[in-house]
Amino acid sequence: MHREGIDDNNVQPEDILCDFCGKAAWAQDVPCVEGHQGSVVCGNCLHVAYSELILASGGEPTKEQCRMCLEHRDDPVWEGGIEPIAAICLRCVKQSSAVLQKSKQWDWTKPV
Ligand SMILES: [Zn+2]
Ligand SMILES: [Zn+2]
Repeated sequence: MHREGIDDNNVQPEDILCDFCGKAAWAQDVPCVEGHQGSVVCGNCLHVAYSELILASGGEPTKEQCRMCLEHRDDPVWEGGIEPIAAICLRCVKQSSAVLQKSKQWDWTKPV
């Protein structure tokens, strides 16, 4: 998400906040993946989400739509730690992890 009250024509790295932890991850050199409507998940959250949803087969379905793809699915989701609570669906966790892992810009690998 974007920090409130910023100039949309002049967005700075520190204006880009992870929707799931609220940190200016990009400005701190943490890899980020963009979703729809300016949503962002950082590599730190993705690491936790991947571990919980995929490695531990955890997570519960929710009535909320996924913050990244804006769809509602019946898959388990991972929820971030800040208000308003944002959910990321299993599919987006997989896709975003694959994007980051492939990216040459970042040294990010899926948790094992
Ligand atoms: Zn985050
Ligand atoms: Zn999704």
